[in-house]
Amino acid sequence: MNPFTYSRTNDAQQAVAEISAKPHGKFLGGGTNLIDLMKMGVETPTQLIDINKLPLAEVEDLSGGKGVRIGALARNSDVAEHKLIKQRYPVLSQALLSGASPQLRNMATVGGNLLQRTRCYYFYDPAFPACNKRNPGSGCGALNGYNRIHAILGQSDDCIATHPSDMCVALAALDAIVRLRGPNGEREIPMTDFHRLPGDTPERDTNLKPDELIIAVDLPAMPFATRSHYLKVRDRASYAFALVSVAAVLDLDSNKKIKAARVALGGVAHKPWRANAVEKKLIGQEANEKTFRAAAETELAPAKGYKYNSFKIELAKRAIIRALSTVAEMN
Ligand code: SF4
Repeated sequence: MNPFTYSRTNDAQQAVAEISAKPHGKFLGGGTNLIDLMKMGVETPTQLIDINKLPLAEVEDLSGGKGVRIGALARNSDVAEHKLIKQRYPVLSQALLSGASPQLRNMATVGGNLLQRTRCYYFYDPAFPACNKRNPGSGCGALNGYNRIHAILGQSDDCIATHPSDMCVALAALDAIVRLRGPNGEREIPMTDFHRLPGDTPERDTNLKPDELIIAVDLPAMPFATRSHYLKVRDRASYAFALVSVAAVLDLDSNKKIKAARVALGGVAHKPWRANAVEKKLIGQEANEKTFRAAAETELAPAKGYKYNSFKIELAKRAIIRALSTVAEMN
């Protein structure tokens, strides 16, 4: 591990001032991904600024029925089990509980979960020289390598990595807003714009600036999100990243016609993939398998597979159908 200095602060503005003065510094929250990457020599910060004492761990009901605010340092376990989340946004609770192990969820923070890096094998192992994400301009080892877990939507020839988080897929479906603080004050980014597609700059996972601190995630009021479900398809039933996942929310009228839909996919792209084509196709239709199949076919029409991951295209379609069918059958 490279040498680094360590500091701790209990003031958000001080944290921002410290990171602004240390362009090669990183904030330390739960550390469940960052410390692994430092041990592997993939991340080499010169300073760690421990932000665990910042007062950002609350889950609060926003007044006026505006929704729920989740502090960036709230632990994944606490958010998953919080009654406001379980009652109003079950898809988020399910997504969180499907990720990692209980021990990791007890440590991992919401802010850190947003900043998880890809699990591409080539990215994680500096013994592989070609990885544009780790070493810009070096090529992509996965493109013609073992690419079973890689992207089928929105990828580029420079990077075909997938985003690993389950939580972020649910947040994308729920129209969440990420709240940030930087040297010039606060700003907000819609969750769907927080992560980036790789293009020719795959080294940048997000639109977070280097001197900004994630302070919270806001969930807007979405009364119909009580009818929601997270489906995760993976190689084993515990502690595995998604091959494909689906966060699905449906608003149905009394005749089971679809008034509104929110759908996002995980495991298929460099960012949580908001399934806009699915949502558009579903509006005004009857909630049945035929409708869901047609919507899934449209969403996956531009998908492109590689030597080892083409199976994901049909898998994603079937996962969409199954997730939507589960939601449609809820009372
Ligand atoms: Fe690196 Fe992306 Fe290629 Fe993986 S897919 S080797 S992360 S450039």
